[in-house]
Amino acid sequence: MMIGNTVQEQLDNFMDGLKRRNPHEHEFHQAVYEVAASIIPFIFHKSVYQQANILERLTEPDRIITFRVCWEDDEGNIRVNRGYRVQHCNAIGPYKGGIRFHYDVSRSILKFLAFEQTFKNSLTGLPMGGAKGGADFNPKGKSDREVMRFCQAFMTELYRHIGPFTDVPAGDIGVGAREISYLFGQYKRLANEFTGVLTGKGLAFGGSLIRSEATGYGAVYIMQDMLKYHQQTIEGKTIVVSGSGNVAQYTVEKAIELGGKVVTMSDSSGFIYDPDGIDQQKLDFIKQLKQVRRGRISEYASEFKVKFYEKQKPWSIACDLAFPCATQNEINAEDAATLVKNGCLAVSEGANMPTEQAGINLFQQSKILYIPSKAANAGGVAVSGLEMTQNSMRLSWSREELDQRLRKIMQDIHDKCVEYGKQEDGTVNYLKGANIGGFIKVADAMLAYGVI
Ligand code: NDP
Repeated sequence: MMIGNTVQEQLDNFMDGLKRRNPHEHEFHQAVYEVAASIIPFIFHKSVYQQANILERLTEPDRIITFRVCWEDDEGNIRVNRGYRVQHCNAIGPYKGGIRFHYDVSRSILKFLAFEQTFKNSLTGLPMGGAKGGADFNPKGKSDREVMRFCQAFMTELYRHIGPFTDVPAGDIGVGAREISYLFGQYKRLANEFTGVLTGKGLAFGGSLIRSEATGYGAVYIMQDMLKYHQQTIEGKTIVVSGSGNVAQYTVEKAIELGGKVVTMSDSSGFIYDPDGIDQQKLDFIKQLKQVRRGRISEYASEFKVKFYEKQKPWSIACDLAFPCATQNEINAEDAATLVKNGCLAVSEGANMPTEQAGINLFQQSKILYIPSKAANAGGVAVSGLEMTQNSMRLSWSREELDQRLRKIMQDIHDKCVEYGKQEDGTVNYLKGANIGGFIKVADAMLAYGVI
């Protein structure tokens, strides 16, 4: 049972308990608060969820695996990193979620990501539970062979905890096609099995078309749906994008295909501002730069004679639409205020939890159309789910078929957000809609299982 006589008391008591049980895990607190603030009012009069203590159970991961990863660098030094897998909830399907390699990976960051993933996967309508994993390994500046040895060492421990019916990891920050290939190769060797245990695989060994594009395309598709619902289109809009990795590249690609003008991209060293707009040819330069040469975004500025803003984020550039596609907490209250002041109409979150709570509050007060990451970037895991289906059926769908399925899934997620987020004044609270829409299916499955 939740403790408290009012919604606010229940929320405060719940968050106090969560913080006490999970000290210093700020990102996890933030992600849970964002969900609990929608769910507690929703279950206030629903004793079935209250009595089964569903929300408290949903904020305690099923298990967290932590392990040592030992590997040898090119100079023969022995290196040690810490690996993790947070298996958050498998109520509606096998655990599913990406692997992140970044120096700031921590238990708190992976717990927030795994928690979010559970709601996101539910929203896709596909049978997938939530998980996330990774290591505090920094792939930047490492040779291919070092990355390979690290991936092999990481998988040597992880492989005993995953499987096509247990837990199916994918990529995330720092884990792209190269890393997934090394990880899959090592799994196959250790398990002596060729199964769909990872998604985001190469096309030659069980990968799916559209998977690379899916997260970015999906974030634009749902923006298109949100704008259409409010009698607007992407065509002719000025667009600001952060990041220049997988999600950012395909967000830009789809946005320009639909007639938008994208004027910024960034990486951790700063952002470029191209007032003429990034076209497909310039985007191909970025893809080559980031996917093959692994260079810095500042090279775009030298190549196309535009301005590079060192160590800055792109939110000061006036825009109609914003797509944060880099990392968590990249939009703070000040950035959100600048976007609002400059007349931004809508925000679709390609990255996970890119907006701090104070920024979300500002977006909502100012009635900007704001769609949170668990809905906006669900296209990636949705196509991962379709990759699992294709692997099980031992067939490959065409690009057109997959794109149509992705398009339909994003539209259904939009409609679910409207169904649960429509307010009395006719506006849509997409955050509330996504949280409740993702919660119900997982909660009902948990109720059906009894106390486990
Ligand atoms: P990539 O590693 O391909 O790209 C990440 C991009 O974000 C790079 O441009 C990177 O710059 C930048 N970045 C990372 N950390 C920071 C930081 N602390 N400050 C500023 N810039 C930073 O990752 P993805 O594109 O795959 O992931 C981006 C976001 O999207 C993440 O939040 C991820 O969880 C989320 N996401 C990804 C999905 C996928 O399918 N890949 C699915 C759903 C969500 P630099 O190279 O300089 O570090």
